[in-house]
Amino acid sequence: MQPPRPRVAVSACILGQPVRYDGGHKRDRFVTDRLARELEFVPVCPELEAGLGVPRSPIHLRRRNGEIRLVGSRDHSLDLTGRMREVAARRADEFDGRICGLIVQRNSPSCGMERVAVANEDGTAAGRTGTGMFVHHFRTRCPLVPIEEAGRLNDPVLRENFLERVWCLHRWYRLGADDLAGFIRFHAAHKLLLMARGSDAYTGLGRIVSGVTRETLAERRGRYIRRFMEVLSKRVSRAQHYNVLQHILGHFRRRLAPADRRELLDLFGSYRSAEVPLAAPLTLLRHHLRRNPDPWLDQQYYFRPYPDALALRAAV
Ligand code: SF4
Repeated sequence: MQPPRPRVAVSACILGQPVRYDGGHKRDRFVTDRLARELEFVPVCPELEAGLGVPRSPIHLRRRNGEIRLVGSRDHSLDLTGRMREVAARRADEFDGRICGLIVQRNSPSCGMERVAVANEDGTAAGRTGTGMFVHHFRTRCPLVPIEEAGRLNDPVLRENFLERVWCLHRWYRLGADDLAGFIRFHAAHKLLLMARGSDAYTGLGRIVSGVTRETLAERRGRYIRRFMEVLSKRVSRAQHYNVLQHILGHFRRRLAPADRRELLDLFGSYRSAEVPLAAPLTLLRHHLRRNPDPWLDQQYYFRPYPDALALRAAV
């Protein structure tokens, strides 16, 4: 059963827990002070779960016999590759269908999402080409779960993309597995979010919803959400948002006075040329929609993909 707020797993050191190899932490204020208001966090420290203590000898990723292993940087006999795979498998079983996102610590040989340092067999640096061992195995077993590094959440576009996916998955998990009407409503209510990633996405997913194949509902749902989350992972440019804004205006332009239409179009143009954030045209659109309600637009999560209380769209 999903809680009212999305449940998100977080590297425990980001939450301020002193679990790093040196007894320190990597508290991230944006996560602990801002996101914590709207998300339910589940702390995870894969290295402690793999049996290591605090403090502990540092570990790193190292090439050995053609594969990347998680081993001690000083104690070369320490090989945690298998144990970390088991930790990831256990957490993936526990989290599958229950958590809507994973926020991890960058550069960590266990938690890093990308560009983690990898050493050659002889210990020399091979480059920043690795993925933390926990994240690597977790991602394989739970491909729907969006993953992001805490530091990258300072980038408004990456943050927007991550949070949209977290809340979309949360809404999906709250649907009943046999709720066909809810499935259809989910698809319709995310039309503009999908359209922002290209006009084909909504139509293609619509074919899965309408069930033109012989698949069961469970098979269609599985295929749908895999493709849906894949599409949502694409970042949306200003030009793409601009097209969606125009599409929205097209829905109720006849009910607007010419001066209001002009004001909206001017604001869309200002958004496209990066003079104002996305919040500006959306706020004005929402104002007009309150005065000219449109049931189809009212249901669109594009206007409110995550709670307004986070007030993050002022930066997008
Ligand atoms: S980066 Fe991951 S493994 Fe390392 S201390 Fe933080 S939570 Fe633990």
